[in-house]
Amino acid sequence: MIDSQSSPTLYLVGAGPGDPELITIKGMKAIQKADVILYDALASKELLMFAKPGCKLVYVGKRRGKRAFSQEEINQLILFYCHQYKNVLRLKGGDPFVFGRGHEEMEYALKRGVHVEVIPGISSALSAPASAGIPLTKRGVNESFWVITGTLSNGEISSDLYHASRSTATVVVLMGMSHLNKIMALFKEGRSAYEPVAIVQHATLPEQKFIRGDVSNISEIAKANDVDNPAVIIIGKVVEESLLAEQIQNVFVSSEMKIAV
Ligand code: SAH
Repeated sequence: MIDSQSSPTLYLVGAGPGDPELITIKGMKAIQKADVILYDALASKELLMFAKPGCKLVYVGKRRGKRAFSQEEINQLILFYCHQYKNVLRLKGGDPFVFGRGHEEMEYALKRGVHVEVIPGISSALSAPASAGIPLTKRGVNESFWVITGTLSNGEISSDLYHASRSTATVVVLMGMSHLNKIMALFKEGRSAYEPVAIVQHATLPEQKFIRGDVSNISEIAKANDVDNPAVIIIGKVVEESLLAEQIQNVFVSSEMKIAV
């Protein structure tokens, strides 16, 4: 057990969706005082430039197809560094508690006597629609938005997607690109072939891509425009509001944004 005098702190920090400026001030301050930073594939690398000299930078990213570290290995690495350094920072894409397994890392560290501080981040679930000018809620258009994973750990699609397709909610799907056809088939059945759909890839980054269509044609548009992971799928009437996206002066909407309809 670690004594309280030298007790390390694990900072579980949300890096935001991509644009490095979308981290919180609290998250940035933690980066500046960290002795070691364990970072993900989706966390902005530019943020690492703000680490103090001598800060150890450890890549623990894993992306589909090229699995670098298992969750257990990451947990053990966190603990390993907590035994050597005072300020250990785990930088995760978006928000650490939104499909980020942040809570598993927190539990693991807490159980082993490490003090944990969670610093939330802006999730891609919120910022991808915003970066395309799509409101998650709009008065008179929708009453809720649901955020659902498109892929369960067993590789199947979530049954919540079925329920969502029978609702009038705006549906935001993360990790859904590999099941796009299946998801669209559900919504064709539950809603209609003309239900509006948008996809935002690399949201808030210069290479952001935005496509818009409907349940019947979005897969084709995605293919034609080479839109794939990491991407957020947005389904519902609010997608029509993105028609204004080209006119709004939103800091998120980069001039390099590629719009294909
Ligand atoms: N904790 C993260 C989500 C991790 S799951 C968050 O809160 O954003 C990984 C999924 O997040 C990706 O498959 C993709 O669906 C989504 N994602 C993360 N960053 C993204 C980005 N910049 N643009 C589009 N989708 C993104």
